[in-house]
Amino acid sequence: MFTGLEDSARHDQTLVIEDGVFRYVGPTAQAPEKQPGDTQLDAGSHFVMPGLADAHTHLVFGNARSEEDIDFWTTPEFRALRGLFFAQRVLAAGYTSVVVPGDAGNCSISVRDAINAGLFTGPRIAASSNVIANRHSLNDWFPEHVGTPEYVTGRLCTTRESQLAEVRRQAKAGVDCIKIAMDGTHFREDGTHIAAFTQDEISAMVDEAHRLGKKVVTHAYGKEAVMYAARAGVDVINHAFFADEACAEAMLKSGSRVSPTLTFLRNNVEFSAEHEPSVGSGYKAAQLRVIEVAKKNLRKLREAGVPFVAGSDSGFAVTPYGEWHAREIEILVDWIGFTPAHALRIATSGTAALLPRGHLLGAIEAGRKADFLFVAGDPLADVSVLQRKEAIAAVHLDGRAVRIEERSYDPWKVTHLGSLKWTEVYTRERVREMR
Ligand SMILES: [Zn+2]
Repeated sequence: MFTGLEDSARHDQTLVIEDGVFRYVGPTAQAPEKQPGDTQLDAGSHFVMPGLADAHTHLVFGNARSEEDIDFWTTPEFRALRGLFFAQRVLAAGYTSVVVPGDAGNCSISVRDAINAGLFTGPRIAASSNVIANRHSLNDWFPEHVGTPEYVTGRLCTTRESQLAEVRRQAKAGVDCIKIAMDGTHFREDGTHIAAFTQDEISAMVDEAHRLGKKVVTHAYGKEAVMYAARAGVDVINHAFFADEACAEAMLKSGSRVSPTLTFLRNNVEFSAEHEPSVGSGYKAAQLRVIEVAKKNLRKLREAGVPFVAGSDSGFAVTPYGEWHAREIEILVDWIGFTPAHALRIATSGTAALLPRGHLLGAIEAGRKADFLFVAGDPLADVSVLQRKEAIAAVHLDGRAVRIEERSYDPWKVTHLGSLKWTEVYTRERVREMR
């Protein structure tokens, strides 16, 4: 049994659970006597560990293949229902807690509320709403004449007033965290990323979010964006691939955590077949270069003592729900240099701390919520075992085993919604080539 707080496994343990909470965790020899009416569950030879937590799962993206797929083809109502379905797939994979870093409208808020009200089984969710974007940032994808209509993921806020108003709107709507797109796809001539908000702008938004009791997460590849985010006191800086020593220092000072979320990049690079648009556009090649820089810089952040969390960026076609979440744990070990035990602590108690009342989640300890897994295999010896569906033998939430039906669905009505019909242009020459 691995508590999620220690570096080694314990043996001959008994867990006593009452009202969904661990009351006793310790040696079987000293455990309280079984009382009449108690149910007893034998873990057998299974490895017992806390439920996993993913710091980066987009519940409304629907395994999208493009930004248009994410934003244009479905109503908010359908996205919420679809998000609920996929949230259950995430839970079945052993993830009892997820943070949604940027969403649309009230989708993840509604999914969270329906689960918390007991209407549906699902993971614990830290919900968010639209990503606060600026010109030059992520989520301001579309041409200037489109902007960010009400229903898309991004919310363009180009003035200080509109930025603060959006923070307050989201707090009122009931988010747990607010996502700010700190950089995007614009670069200086020397190749460095341009931050999308000034220091002054992000500091004002973070101060207001914190004043209203909300956490703030950002997307920040570039060192300027990471630096501004750290100085502003952002809770989770996603990616931080180009962070330098000064960024590390600022993050240590502010207590900002880093979520590499390299699973998305790794899958994109490894799975994008030759015919994919991401190859022809140069996107795949660019991500491969980013990975090489990121490995070095994130190792330095680890050595400096910056706290890490684990997120997969699930919700895209290369990171479908319930499939790749635990790959990030393997990346923390193989690419960033964490020990398996440290990576598992990050993916349990470390990441669960981001959820509301997160100090009561993510670990097998008296007083915490009884979310735990039975695993066939030893993740302390090989963390990749957690990626195998058949190894997740049982998922318990609030002390009860959850049953999620393995239901198949029609992807052409759920995920493959774009209007793209061909990936090639059939000139006479191309047709001749194809014979
Ligand atoms: Zn993301």
